Amino acid sequence: MLEGLKPSAVWKYFEEICAIPHGSGNVAQIGAYLAGFAEKNGLACITEPCGNVIIRKDATPGCENAPAVVLQGHMDMVAVKDGDCEKDMTREGLDLAISEDGQFVYAEGTSLGGDDGIALAYGLAILAADDIAHPAIELVATVDEETGMDGARELLAEDVKGRRWLNLDSEDEGVLLAGCAGGLTQKSMFGVSRDTVSGSLLRISVTGCRGGHSGTEIDKNRANAILILASLLREMDFGKMLQPLWIAGGEKDNAIPTSAEMVICVNDYERIEICRAFDRAERKLLPVYRMQEPGLSFVLEETEDGGEHMIQEGSYRVMNESSVEKVLNFLSLVPFGVSAMSEEPKGLVETSNNVGIIRTAGDTVIVDSSVRSLVPLRKQQLGDKIALLTTMCGGIAERHSEYPGWEFRPESVLREAWVETYREVYGAEPVVTTIHAGLECGLIIEHMPETDAVSFGPNIFDIHTTSERMEIASVERTWNLLVKLLERLGRG
Ligand SMILES: [Zn+2]
Repeated sequence: MLEGLKPSAVWKYFEEICAIPHGSGNVAQIGAYLAGFAEKNGLACITEPCGNVIIRKDATPGCENAPAVVLQGHMDMVAVKDGDCEKDMTREGLDLAISEDGQFVYAEGTSLGGDDGIALAYGLAILAADDIAHPAIELVATVDEETGMDGARELLAEDVKGRRWLNLDSEDEGVLLAGCAGGLTQKSMFGVSRDTVSGSLLRISVTGCRGGHSGTEIDKNRANAILILASLLREMDFGKMLQPLWIAGGEKDNAIPTSAEMVICVNDYERIEICRAFDRAERKLLPVYRMQEPGLSFVLEETEDGGEHMIQEGSYRVMNESSVEKVLNFLSLVPFGVSAMSEEPKGLVETSNNVGIIRTAGDTVIVDSSVRSLVPLRKQQLGDKIALLTTMCGGIAERHSEYPGWEFRPESVLREAWVETYREVYGAEPVVTTIHAGLECGLIIEHMPETDAVSFGPNIFDIHTTSERMEIASVERTWNLLVKLLERLGRG
């Protein structure tokens, strides 16, 4: 499908990778493919206990004295497909296609996994080439980045010699990443007591918020649907009449929630009062969000969806007043959004929190918050603050999925070499920055503190979605940059 695209070796390997199913958690086959490549090409290869594959190639003549360079990417992809796509992504390869205008490669009906298949394709093309000058190379392919960075977490320092680390897991050509935020998930759990009441059900929902990535879009002034629902309920101010069966909102802790809802039980008298209170609150709140969230809407509707809290039709187990108060107090006080901007580099988000998910599991309401910071202490402090607030509101706090950040180094030989090479290849200035999201570099530097790292890659749009597409010309320019950079690093 991709023959004719340049550089042909890169696209050939990319196509081979896409023929192998490799969603997160399903990486044994792609690992075996990489080990097979090493064997075929007579290259040394290690498969680590966790599944990471490391392939070595010696320096080309004249480059023997230069420090070894690591090319790194992750093996797994976010495997998602359209509702009407019949493909079994655990067993079948992707159907690659080129857009009508000839500019992009994408996969029919599914995500493409350009994130991060292109890193492996670049790596294999370098390892297979005999016409590129380079220092000793190690291709490090990590497992399951997308579901918790397991491969980077379990990478063994003794398996990798190189300390000049090229992470090829960025999707914005012309931007060099030289630092990233660390993160943690703070879980707040509120036990609720229930009473049995009779009546009918109403659903109160908040929908149509813009949402976005909880790191890179946390400074874009997006509203949080879960917190809007909480303020709607406060504005309605009907005290004892609020008898929820459950509350839910958001899908991932690393996405700003676009919708949230609560199902309540009411009797006939309360129904009228609640409809009035809802109308009043809606009239008050909507104008406040008109500019920020033009798609926002509030809905009050009948429902029969009592879920597990229905005893029989007309009879429900509802949260009592003090339980509701705990949850609403927490939601009214929990911080959301940017809590500090960074001084160096200036103008970037330093510390933030996203309230990503709320759900009701039996008699527990659970809220997941995703904390990020460029500064380790600030990450801890914000996590602690949310934990403290949880306890003060009568809940239990737990911390999960903590990962370290990657601090911007004032001096970096690798960064300078990359910037020089970029100027030479593009005749322009690159952007050098840090990102308010997690990269594997943080964990790698934790294992090997002397590592000098940078992260870059070709343009890939809408990653992790079925609209993911990779720009063909950008893949070629980034390849040229990589080859020239390796030649430069080969000189010492
Ligand atoms: Zn990635």
